[in-house]
Amino acid sequence: MRSSWSIPVGRLFGVDVRLHLTFLILPMFIYWTDYAAHQYVSGGRDLALVGIILACVAAHECGHMLAARRLGLVPKAVILLPLTGVVLYDESKAEKQNPVLLWKREIRLALVGPLVNLALAAFAIAVVAASGRPIELWKWPFLQAANIPKSIVWTNLYIAALSFMPAYPLDGGRILRAVLSRQLDLAAATRRAVAISSAIALVLVFAGLFSDSWLTMIGVVVFSAAQLEERALVFQSVLDNVRLEEVMLTDFATLSPADTLEDALDKAVHSLQDDFPVVRGSDMVGVISRQRILDALRSEGNGYVQAVMNKIFDVSLRHDSLGSAFRKLTARSSSIIPVVEDQRLVGIVTLQNLMHSMALLAESRKLQRQNFEE
Ligand SMILES: [Zn+2]
Repeated sequence: MRSSWSIPVGRLFGVDVRLHLTFLILPMFIYWTDYAAHQYVSGGRDLALVGIILACVAAHECGHMLAARRLGLVPKAVILLPLTGVVLYDESKAEKQNPVLLWKREIRLALVGPLVNLALAAFAIAVVAASGRPIELWKWPFLQAANIPKSIVWTNLYIAALSFMPAYPLDGGRILRAVLSRQLDLAAATRRAVAISSAIALVLVFAGLFSDSWLTMIGVVVFSAAQLEERALVFQSVLDNVRLEEVMLTDFATLSPADTLEDALDKAVHSLQDDFPVVRGSDMVGVISRQRILDALRSEGNGYVQAVMNKIFDVSLRHDSLGSAFRKLTARSSSIIPVVEDQRLVGIVTLQNLMHSMALLAESRKLQRQNFEE
């Protein structure tokens, strides 16, 4: 996620929270609209308004993430944009699901976010009503740094209403994609939804130039969010479509169970590999990592690879998908998978080489698709 235009800001419910760079435009934007309206700015209150928007988006995304957990998805990171967010899921831990369940799940998941905001708005109205102060809910402008309680209500109402816009990855767009995915496969449905969304974003940006500049702002956010989702999708399609034979290392060092640990360490020093298959004749008998060799040497002194190697390991076949290899790696928290053919070792896939090759593959697929579409 190096180039996702976002910065890490912390963790929430075990999920990495990142702030998208468009969020940094928001304070400037609010200052500017405040100044345009009153010819003066009140810094503290404007900042409070930014804080309210951030908190309402975060609450919305928390709703999605908690619901996702219940439905068996594992959220990995959430990127907050002004007015919306994008949750990235750990696809290596997701099971293959029945497509019918998938689109129903998607719709349920999409509805949770706006419901959270509607509930918050109702709660804020109730609190203000209980305090006995007049809230002037219908007095323009709705979002205004000078009236914080009213801004809380309207921020939530705006976020809820915007979420229903059929602009993927806003929730309305997700529902649209879920409906499209009944006819198309998920990748095609997403691409269609992203195209519709980009068109809507463009209209908003231009409409905003001639009317309310908030529309331009929303258009930019929708466009940025759609780009983020498309990247995640490219990554997923790489996981599903790339065969191990395309990424496995075929030029690698092996160890023998009869090697001493000192010999093994010596080989490890002369290789870039962190993990080694242990082979007797042409049989795979174990795997061992450089770290394990070092640890054993430190604690027990010199011995044989046989005694310290890991004898329980998963193997994959040439034609297995990258995604399946990832799941095996994370399930056993190992860092190497031997690739075999007729019991014979033909390659290895390591966590180290996967990280590297996935990024390359994602880029090359994207290039191929762009060429194809032109
Ligand atoms: Zn949402």
